[in-house]
Amino acid sequence: MNAIELRDIVKQYKTTRALNGLTLEVQAGELFGLVGVNGAGKTTTLSTVMGFIRASSGTARVLGLDPWRDAPTLHAKIAWLPGDVRLPDAQTALEWLSYQASVLKLELGKVRSLAAEWDVPLDRPMRTLSKGNRQKVALLRLLASDAELLILDEPTSGLDPVAQERLMIALRERAKAGATVLFSSHNLIEVQTLCDRIAVIDAGRVVREGSVSALIGQVQTMSVWSRLEIDPSVFQDWKLERVTATHCILEGAKLLEDAVPKLLPFGIERLEFGGMGLERLLEGAHRAGLEHKNGVKT
Ligand code: ATP
Repeated sequence: MNAIELRDIVKQYKTTRALNGLTLEVQAGELFGLVGVNGAGKTTTLSTVMGFIRASSGTARVLGLDPWRDAPTLHAKIAWLPGDVRLPDAQTALEWLSYQASVLKLELGKVRSLAAEWDVPLDRPMRTLSKGNRQKVALLRLLASDAELLILDEPTSGLDPVAQERLMIALRERAKAGATVLFSSHNLIEVQTLCDRIAVIDAGRVVREGSVSALIGQVQTMSVWSRLEIDPSVFQDWKLERVTATHCILEGAKLLEDAVPKLLPFGIERLEFGGMGLERLLEGAHRAGLEHKNGVKT
């Protein structure tokens, strides 16, 4: 069953198309990460899922509901962490969390034990808290709820490595207990280690989607040293970077199966294979998007 289904979502602001035909499915119980360069459309996607903004066109179903029309019902089932956490400066964390607990029907005891575990000062005005501690306060509200869907925009922003690790463990436990977790992140290591699946968003569309290992496995690099100069026109299915006349780097899928046989006529002297980190995958997807937009054949 899908917890989230977005189909062909377009979000047009006056002059900016923030989402441009975005399609995404997240299954119930999945830990799903959205990655992409700045301005790719991650926050707009999450805001559409939350029903904070209305799509210009396309269809969205979240937990079987229409996120825009059924927003109040949906919000009772979702725990949300915004990308720009704003908390009342004058209130203490305890005052704010107590109020949130009463509105959202959270157990205050659970909030307190989480605060102790996360080392969050509860009794100081929040304007005196560090950015990381303010982020933790907002996270406590999310973690204290037993919502079936958790949506987090850049959750580790401002957190120290210990807190990042703690959050990863907490999210994993929630997913194990059956919750669906969708989050956006610039921290590729966290995405790589945590997610069941990811979607790479670029220019308002999902340009790659799948398990991290499958995505990274799809794209690889191969350094080739040859006896003869390599004719790039033979390798149009791959990105080819020429280091010298007889040394080039090929990037793409199926290098061993399809590219190596084509290299034989050039006299292969040495081959070196490299996997591709998520950073390169992201960069490659973005570059391909720009080249497509500018009409350059990749
Ligand atoms: P970042 O990683 O920097 O947070 P993002 O992937 O979350 O970026 P979005 O915030 O979704 O990207 O923005 C997508 C595009 O939509 C950007 O070009 C942004 O400038 C534009 N945009 C977002 N909100 C608005 C708005 N309210 N009015 C006009 N344009 C907007």
